[in-house]
Parts: sequence; structure tokens; C-alpha cells
Amino acid sequence: MSNENKSIHEFDINLIWEYFSNLEQQGPGSPEATTKALSFIDNLSDESCIADIGCGTGGNTMELAKRISGKITAIDLSSQFIELLNSNVKGFKYQNKVKGIVGSMDNLQFAEEELDLIWSEGAIYHIGFERGLNEWRKFIKSGGYIAVSEATWFTNDRPNEIEEFWEEAYSEIDTIPSKVKQMQDAGYVPVATFILPESCWKDYYHLPQIPVQEDFLKRNAGNKFAEDFVSFQKLEMQMYNKYKSYYGYAFYIGKKI
Ligand code: SAH
Repeated sequence: MSNENKSIHEFDINLIWEYFSNLEQQGPGSPEATTKALSFIDNLSDESCIADIGCGTGGNTMELAKRISGKITAIDLSSQFIELLNSNVKGFKYQNKVKGIVGSMDNLQFAEEELDLIWSEGAIYHIGFERGLNEWRKFIKSGGYIAVSEATWFTNDRPNEIEEFWEEAYSEIDTIPSKVKQMQDAGYVPVATFILPESCWKDYYHLPQIPVQEDFLKRNAGNKFAEDFVSFQKLEMQMYNKYKSYYGYAFYIGKKI
């Protein structure tokens, strides 16, 4: 296997966090996509409790804070990301609304039925879509919502090269009908699903990475992990450009019954 095919798990996590600290978002998305997903959710008030799981440096968290009046707990495994998020929170004067904490999505510290909404953009794959939907459900109030974005096949058949790439990267990638069924089976009414437009990849995610990659390689000159990691990011971009008609990200919004 060439270096380019290394899975992300084989790279040094601190270097990965350093790299992504320099980006406003750590996965495909956009303020418009966050706002659209939020438009399907109708149970929120000043009293609402929201968790944003795998929030990264808080790109989508700030968008949520702008648009909703409840309290948001933003959780990420990376203390580096949470520090940046909390400093953004201060900058936007959202201290009364948003609190960033370090924690893991497989060990959430909420009480049963504490949350009105669980949000997770581009992050549930770390625990797996089905496992996340099932395990997080107990924290959501009856009638509350979950909104997650997730890698998704757009077609039933795909070229081998992209099948193999995703088998290695995240084998739970699946079609929209399969993901919707998983959501229903986990005890949610699937309320809406929509595909993130190409601009979420290109303008918001890939293009900002180009200068970040140059700086990162300069800072970490001679570091094999850093070089392999940037090669992997470049490969991901190439794969997307070549095969974007076969896959992308989709938002899934479900209501707990
Ligand atoms: N929601 C953000 C970040 C998505 S990237 C955005 O869309 O920009 C995925 C995030 O999940 C990363 O910030 C990563 O640090 C975080 N993550 C990975 N494993 C995690 C875990 N076990 N618990 C919590 N967060 C995790």
C-alpha cells in the first residue's frame, strides 16, 4: 500500500489537530447548510439544551448560536479545538449561550432525556452512524431532534477505485435510503434529508486547505507523518473531484418518538 492510502488513524493525532486548527471548519459544510438543517427543527426555546458533538473549532457551532436561543454544549476530543472554540465564543460574545468542553462522543456525560437537540456535523463517523444514533438517543427528550451530516453514496453502483477508498476510510458510508432506514430503526422519525452542495466541499473545505498545507509542510519540514498526512488530504480532494457524482455528504434530521 502506498503512503497515500494510509488511514487517518495511522497519523500522529497532535499533528492532525495542528493542521485542522488552522481551518475554520474541519469537514464539509457551510453556514447555509447548517441553517437549512435547522429549519426542519421546531421545538427550540430559550430553555432548550443542545449538544454539538464533534464540534471542532466551532464553525458550525457559531452558526447555531447565531440562530437559536437555547444553551449549547459543544464537545470535542481535541483540547486544542475546544480552546479555539471557547476563544471564538468570547469574540462573538456568546458566553451565555455556548460552552465548549473536552469529551468523547462514546462517553457523553448528559442525563437521560436532558437534550432537546443533538447536532453533529461531519463527526458521527468517528463512532459510526448507527452506533451514534442508537447510543445518543437516550439523552434526547421525547419529541426532541437529532441532526447529523454523514458521508453518503448517491448511486447504487460505483467504480472500484472509489469503493475501495471508502472501504478503507469509512466502510459505513451508504446510500440515503439505507441511512434513513437506520435512523428509523434507531427510533427516530426521519424528518428530512438533503445533500450538501458541491460548494460545501470546494469553497468551504478544500480551497482553504491549500495555503494551510503549504504552511504546515514548512513548519513540519522533514516530518514524515506531516508529509503523509498532507498527501492523504490531497488524495481525498482528488478523489472527490473525480467521483463527486457518486458520493458526498448528506444531512439527516430525525425526531425522537
Ligand atoms: N463539526 C465540525 C468538525 C467536524 S470534524 C465541522 O463540521 O467543522 C470531526 C470532529 O470530531 C473533529 O473535530 C474531531 O476532533 C472530533 N472527534 C473525533 N473523535 C471524537 C470523539 N471520540 N469524541 C468527540 N469528538 C471527536
